[in-house]
Amino acid sequence: MDIASILYSLFQVGPLIIACNYLTIRLKQDRKYELQKNAEMKACWLDYNEELLKNTFKDYSPQKNIYQFFPKELENIAIETLYSLNNYQELTPIIDKLISYLGISTLPDLFFNLENLNIHYVPFYERKHFLLDTLGTYSYKNNEINIYKNRPGVLEHEFLHTASSRKITKNDTDYSLTGFSVVGKDLDWFRGLNEGYTEVLNQRIFKTRKTAYKTNTYVVKYFENIFDDPKEMEKAYFYNDIDNVVYQFLEYGSKEEFLKVISFLDLYAGMPAPKAKRDAIVNLICNVIKRSGKKDNIDKCKKLDEDNKLSIKKLVKNF
Ligand SMILES: [Zn+2]
Repeated sequence: MDIASILYSLFQVGPLIIACNYLTIRLKQDRKYELQKNAEMKACWLDYNEELLKNTFKDYSPQKNIYQFFPKELENIAIETLYSLNNYQELTPIIDKLISYLGISTLPDLFFNLENLNIHYVPFYERKHFLLDTLGTYSYKNNEINIYKNRPGVLEHEFLHTASSRKITKNDTDYSLTGFSVVGKDLDWFRGLNEGYTEVLNQRIFKTRKTAYKTNTYVVKYFENIFDDPKEMEKAYFYNDIDNVVYQFLEYGSKEEFLKVISFLDLYAGMPAPKAKRDAIVNLICNVIKRSGKKDNIDKCKKLDEDNKLSIKKLVKNF
């Protein structure tokens, strides 16, 4: 190849290389900016919400919720009705698993949200924030699931939100409740707890392996041991009963400890926590559970410790 043809090739490929490099740098900068903006936004939001929570908690005495009995003889007809409301083939196996795991009486919100549910598979060119890691969203207001990355477990995660969302009105103000989260005007509570627990259920009910919200899932698996029976927390989630969770925690833990856990989960809902911080929160939760003196619950935490150690060993071995 003579010099002229080398120069000619460079002349042709050069702009492409420059463009690619430029694009890579831009993407990295955008990503850094988005992450930073995300962190700042969360920090502000957390300060604000902690103040609100402190006020609310001042005279807080939660009541243990007793769920209404759902008549057994209506179960079959309820299941039939639920299936008839479904317009999406891909949801049928998900509904099957939900019903067989939870039972129809634990899905009150789904009867309202399934009929007009819209699932939108968003093509990449329609994505507004394609640099963020959002895999999917559920909007209660529009009753719409948006799937950005159709990976295993994404539709299941969003469908758990669909099955646990409702609107309530208190003192002329509307709030939307999704699982444990409470969203209203200028108010956004318990989001981190809710996302973590949604992923715990995603793994448990649908056997999803790769999950989002890794830190939250890790911590919430310990947190749920404040309940003697995990089914109680599942019911509380689908009945939007955050009161029951607060009640259970405050039986042996303090309000300050509860706020610490909730704030941690909110802060790290969008990014992984440093290991030391995560372990400190897990330690706090386990201490509350130890205070209860309930052997079964304490043993469940120990079992989680062992499982986590084992999975780290496996990871190192495979590496
Ligand atoms: Zn979610």
